[in-house]
Amino acid sequence: MTETTIFHRILDGEIPADKVYEDEEVLIFKDIHPKAPTHLLLISKQECIPSIADLTEETKDIAGMLIYKAKEFAEREGIDGYQLKFHVGKSGGQEVFYLHLHFLSQQALRDE
Ligand code: 5GP
Repeated sequence: MTETTIFHRILDGEIPADKVYEDEEVLIFKDIHPKAPTHLLLISKQECIPSIADLTEETKDIAGMLIYKAKEFAEREGIDGYQLKFHVGKSGGQEVFYLHLHFLSQQALRDE
């Protein structure tokens, strides 16, 4: 069974997060310790697996979905340069074992 993480608690509304976008598939919120003017985290609302290392034939579409949602978000925000990162495993810098995509940009969001 997958361990409950801080991101499960954000998704369940148990702890607050600065949400910037949400639809039926994805939640996008600000990283609490930003490493760039825009530093967001994207998580799937439907399927939780701990890490890219746990992807299977059945769940592999989550990664593509997160990347595509990041691309759509950037287009809506008019952000044309950004980095997308998955940290994989403890030695890959991963701290939260709820699969998430980092979105970093030197450009700020429109409302900031
Ligand atoms: P990882 O290293 O696992 O890929 O990244 C986890 C990220 O989650 C880190 O950049 C960290 O700053 C962020 N983070 C950890 N706890 C919280 C939290 O409670 N709220 C938010 N918004 N971000 C968090």
